[in-house]
Amino acid sequence: MTDRSLTLMAVHAHPDDEATSTGGVLARYAAEGVTTVLVTCTDGGCGDGPGGIKPGDPGHDPKAVVEMRRAELAASCEALKVTHLETLDYGDSGMMGWATNEAPGAFWNTPVAEAADRLAELIRRYRPDVVVTYDENGFYGHPDHIQAHRITMAAVEQTGIPAKVYWTTVPRSAFQQFGTVMKEIGVEFPEPEATDEMPALGLPDDEITTWVDTSGYGGQKFASLAAHASQAENIFFLRLGQERFTELMGMETFVRVRDTTGAATPEDDLFAGLR
Ligand SMILES: [Zn+2]
Repeated sequence: MTDRSLTLMAVHAHPDDEATSTGGVLARYAAEGVTTVLVTCTDGGCGDGPGGIKPGDPGHDPKAVVEMRRAELAASCEALKVTHLETLDYGDSGMMGWATNEAPGAFWNTPVAEAADRLAELIRRYRPDVVVTYDENGFYGHPDHIQAHRITMAAVEQTGIPAKVYWTTVPRSAFQQFGTVMKEIGVEFPEPEATDEMPALGLPDDEITTWVDTSGYGGQKFASLAAHASQAENIFFLRLGQERFTELMGMETFVRVRDTTGAATPEDDLFAGLR
């Protein structure tokens, strides 16, 4: 089509989010010669600190956390061979309802238009063909994930540049298998159920438009996640070992929400219709 290489941009909330839901596509498309741009919106300062100190506990020093997580993010990008890493460096807002939601500089406390302008500038610079982010609930309700969704959709609207936009999702059929494996390694994983505050996680399989096989890149995805081992929430995945992890996480799924190519769905490639 053109001589310019295809470009994928993934917009994530925290250092480590790139690994779980898009580590496979970032690694796979980089290996295929696609330019990959990771935008990480926050500094991850509400994560676990060095030595596993939890946010809010004595000795939790957000500055030390930020520094550690910056180095982890660089290592993860190295593992996934991300071409360009861009960090917006907003303050991590913490979980919904935490005082950090309202802190000066917190991502959740930043007007959508302001952050969207910065992202739009990056979209104009890199001209991604495909942009990936979260759904309107940020997949599981974290304020920074919701905000990442909002600024991405506003920046896409403003620039009109990406030919395709996707939200990450998980097929409901995968949850049962996921629950069984988690039990094996001693992690309680309740079946997702919708509540008043929280829509159910994931989507029925027939609403998923895009299934990308990334099982050939399980080693890189595992290494990317391992780079963030300081974050307790991720360690349980690592307990699976690389082989089981790839079995469980080797298919990345998306719902296509913007498309100018007319590629038929279901599709198995984020760049279907663009090659
Ligand atoms: Zn996150």
